[in-house]
Amino acid sequence: MSINTKKLTEIINIKDLNPDVIEEFKVSNEIPWVQDLVNELEEDNEGEKGELPSKIELDLKITLRSVKFYGDYVTVRAGIKAEYYAPCIRCLALTRQEFEHDVNGLFLHDTYASRPEYQDISSYFIENEEMELYFHKKGQVELKEFIHEQIYIEKEAFPRCTGECVNKVLF
Ligand SMILES: [Zn+2]
Repeated sequence: MSINTKKLTEIINIKDLNPDVIEEFKVSNEIPWVQDLVNELEEDNEGEKGELPSKIELDLKITLRSVKFYGDYVTVRAGIKAEYYAPCIRCLALTRQEFEHDVNGLFLHDTYASRPEYQDISSYFIENEEMELYFHKKGQVELKEFIHEQIYIEKEAFPRCTGECVNKVLF
């Protein structure tokens, strides 16, 4: 059983998930909040458009677990694929950027956030997998924020033309 993709919102309410069901979503920037993420990646382009379409595709498997030890927690197994344009750091010409990133997110109840043993860790081993550690607050999983963070971890920090620069090199 899966939630209709049209209902995949940028914040997921835990109460909308059925325990122990893997809810799978394949969505792209046809959804406005995913398009926001594309716009964010291209915010330095001053409105200039590349030749090819820019896009983000998300393949998400979201599961709510309810266990005695942890209470309610949500896992998000995410495949993130991004294709976009960014200015070359040397000559400012638009360059095509692409990456694919698979990452697992674990959203524990936010009472865990204040526990000392959870203060200094950013990932956690659960269900035989390493997961990036997040917390859900008031039953809300901030999905867009999670994807945003993972994109900024993965994206090329210093885009450059491949080979010779297209424009005159500025410095
Ligand atoms: Zn360049």
